[in-house]
Amino acid sequence: MFPVLLPTYNRTDIAFVRGEGSWLFAEDGKRYLDFGAGIAVNAFGHANPKLVAALTEQAGKLWHTSNLYRVPGQQSLAEKLVANSFADTVFFTNSGAEAAELAFKMARRYQYVSGHPERYQIISFEGAFHGRTLATIAATGNEKYLEGFGPKVQGFDQVPLEDLPALNRMIGPQTAALIIEPLQGEGGVRPVAPEFLRALRKICDDKGLLLIFDEIQTGIGRTGKLFAYEWLGIVPDIMCIAKAIGGGFPLGALLATAEAAKGMTVGTHGTTFGGNPLAMAVGNAALDLALAPGFLEHVGKVAGYLNQQLGALVAAHPAIFESVRGQGLMLGLKMKIPNTDFITAARQAGLVVLPAGDNVVRLLPPLTISESEVREGMELMNRAAATLESQKAAAQ
Ligand SMILES: *Cc1c(COP(=O)(O)O)cnc(C)c1O
Repeated sequence: MFPVLLPTYNRTDIAFVRGEGSWLFAEDGKRYLDFGAGIAVNAFGHANPKLVAALTEQAGKLWHTSNLYRVPGQQSLAEKLVANSFADTVFFTNSGAEAAELAFKMARRYQYVSGHPERYQIISFEGAFHGRTLATIAATGNEKYLEGFGPKVQGFDQVPLEDLPALNRMIGPQTAALIIEPLQGEGGVRPVAPEFLRALRKICDDKGLLLIFDEIQTGIGRTGKLFAYEWLGIVPDIMCIAKAIGGGFPLGALLATAEAAKGMTVGTHGTTFGGNPLAMAVGNAALDLALAPGFLEHVGKVAGYLNQQLGALVAAHPAIFESVRGQGLMLGLKMKIPNTDFITAARQAGLVVLPAGDNVVRLLPPLTISESEVREGMELMNRAAATLESQKAAAQ
């Protein structure tokens, strides 16, 4: 019989039934320390009391009105995002891919109203991940995600990361925009050289292109700043966020300058659910947590500690790990053994960690994680590594 759930996931046979801060509890009562945070989503921990209160309070008042009416929570959340970023304007979506889709539409529309209807091409970079819709798989460019779903959406091309000559060869009279993650997530927690990102800004300025940052994973404090672009001394024209901004409630957003957004007039875009009162209640509360004094300092401090501990872990288990990379609480362990072997061993030890491309184990704990929880996590990772080493020794 065909599975009642479309079998597109290779799921681990665990059902979590409850969460509290950095901890998850499974059906069988087993407790896990969560270094995955639902893929960078539960940035404020599980069952955060402030987010629970915001959601339940709104749930008793009003769930949905459609975007035919003013939604006060959209106004306040947009004002806060604008006050704390490069952006002048915000559109709320339900997911990251929807924000990326809008970024593509906005970039083409910008060129169209600027007298360049011929500029439609969006250039992305190898190792990228921008989502699973038809346009975002075209931008992602990963053959695994494209196979059998052709024809590929037109107007998306990819060049190698940090290859300026290849980029300059690809840019032509048809180019509208570049899209990049300032730190690649799914691709393997691959950092991008700041000089390269700054060079993209200059190319876009010189050639009248828009620079789109996909901060769906890096956004809302993950790297130790509210947005990763803040480390660079440059700003994008358009930025996509999602994941952490809802703290676990489906919410994404597109942020843009007034100039980039100038073509998006009444009727050019819309959504039924995007920015609904429930999402806005949680989003406002989540952003308030991220903006609270000391929050980002905490992320920086605990991230520094985790990074240093991971360095020691790699040194202690040279047959298992190759190196540590990433920024803030978005860290990756490049593995010498299959990343899935380590993920399984860590889970058996009671720690949830995530896979990423390039044989990397990805660590994305809640941003609220404490130093003592990091210590517990390191203990569990050391134990998992030791188990794998003894298995390896026994097999020889
Ligand atoms: C998760 C992610 C997306 C896709 O977001 P969805 O909400 O799954 O559509 C896009 N870009 C990046 C960088 C992501 O990490």
